Amino acid sequence: MALIVHKYGGTSMGSTERIRSVARRVAKWVRAGHRMVVVPSAMSGETNRLLGLAKELQPARLDTAALRELDMIAATGEQVSVGLLALALQAEGVPAVSYAGWQVPIRTDAAYTKARITSIDDTRVRADLDAGRVVVITGFQGVDDAGHVTTLGRGGSDTSAVAVAAALGADECLIYTDVDGVYTTDPRVVPEARRLHTISFEEMLEMASLGSKVLQIRSVEFAGKYRVPLRVLSSFTDWGIPIDEEARSGTLITFEEDEKMEQAVVSGIAFNRDEAKVTVLGVPDRPGIAYQILGAVADANIDVDMIIQNVSHDGRTDFSFTVHRNDHPRVMDLLKQKVVPALGAREVIGDARICKVSIVGIGMKSHVGVAAKMFRTLSEEGINIQMISTSEIKTSVVIDEKYMELAVRALHRAFELDEPAAA
Ligand code: ADP
Ligand code: ASP
Ligand code: MG
Repeated sequence: MALIVHKYGGTSMGSTERIRSVARRVAKWVRAGHRMVVVPSAMSGETNRLLGLAKELQPARLDTAALRELDMIAATGEQVSVGLLALALQAEGVPAVSYAGWQVPIRTDAAYTKARITSIDDTRVRADLDAGRVVVITGFQGVDDAGHVTTLGRGGSDTSAVAVAAALGADECLIYTDVDGVYTTDPRVVPEARRLHTISFEEMLEMASLGSKVLQIRSVEFAGKYRVPLRVLSSFTDWGIPIDEEARSGTLITFEEDEKMEQAVVSGIAFNRDEAKVTVLGVPDRPGIAYQILGAVADANIDVDMIIQNVSHDGRTDFSFTVHRNDHPRVMDLLKQKVVPALGAREVIGDARICKVSIVGIGMKSHVGVAAKMFRTLSEEGINIQMISTSEIKTSVVIDEKYMELAVRALHRAFELDEPAAA
């Protein structure tokens, strides 16, 4: 008998019919003798709908007071889901009880719309499990020390599930979604993408941070920190398939690096359209300019990703960096109004039509020439590289957004990730 956490995403919870199928799957695990905690997301489209309503009433001024209300609104999607799922389980003859984040409680900091979990009290959940009930807990939401409802950022139900699994010392956390595992790249963009049977924790962390939305990055961080056995699998398989078969399906996140030694140099390709580029032109080239520009950006609480400073000409240089697209208007205002005049720079230009494409693989640690192959592949497609950044296990480039799919497909082929054509 094991303690298992299941997480079901929005599409998996998308209708009462889908919820019934989730309940049947969970009931199967209960009947096999497992103690079950289930963490569902809001029904598909619901979080967008709720945030859309909020935007109609308050399109612009998102100060702390407004962000608090956004969380109050967005968190309701998951509350509907847990109630419906608990009802469906009861209808299957399985005793079940649902809780909102504050009832557990799942405690977070007060950073509305992107709160971080600080602790989870497992007393209540354990009491229900001991009484033979399935416990259904809202994904995505928590409560801060002052009792305000918070949410964990888009895709945050993954993190709720892994955090609950860590707090309970669960034997496994299974993330059920609308694809049957983690692929070499998003199968919606590259139909030839291949499912990985395993992926190392380090690679999964890079893939998630570089834009693969199959797992929220914080869920992977939690899994690494607390060594939570984590698997991604499909909720669209027949709920009646044998439990052993289901438990071995999908993609397992592994913590043992050795298992990967023999495998491909590049394991996957991630991409992300969420960034925008900013260039400050004609900056006087003297010590301290990076600090003057990026210090001001950091003071405005805006995260910077890639950074490039060009060689100088006649004592002046250009300085480029990327930020999240949501922060782009704010950073442009800040630079135009404060930084450019203070520095005596010429002007600032912005470009939101960029994307970042990254190759990821532990094998890159021990192979040279991997980045060069990436650059050659892109040049053969006539794609211009605007920025580059590398680490031990990834190389990322910024390119024009309109070439994103072409770049991902070409790289997928060049690094031999395509599914071999059926004989
Ligand atoms: P859920 O609602 O279940 O949380 P998400 O939409 O958040 O589902 O995540 C699943 C989606 O992630 C898939 O439908 C797929 O389009 C996308 N995705 C992006 N990169 C990958 C990848 N490397 N492997 C699998 N899916 C990926
Ligand atoms: N419902 C939330 C969202 O859409 C959380 C999640 O689905 O993981 O972002
Ligand atoms: Mg998700």
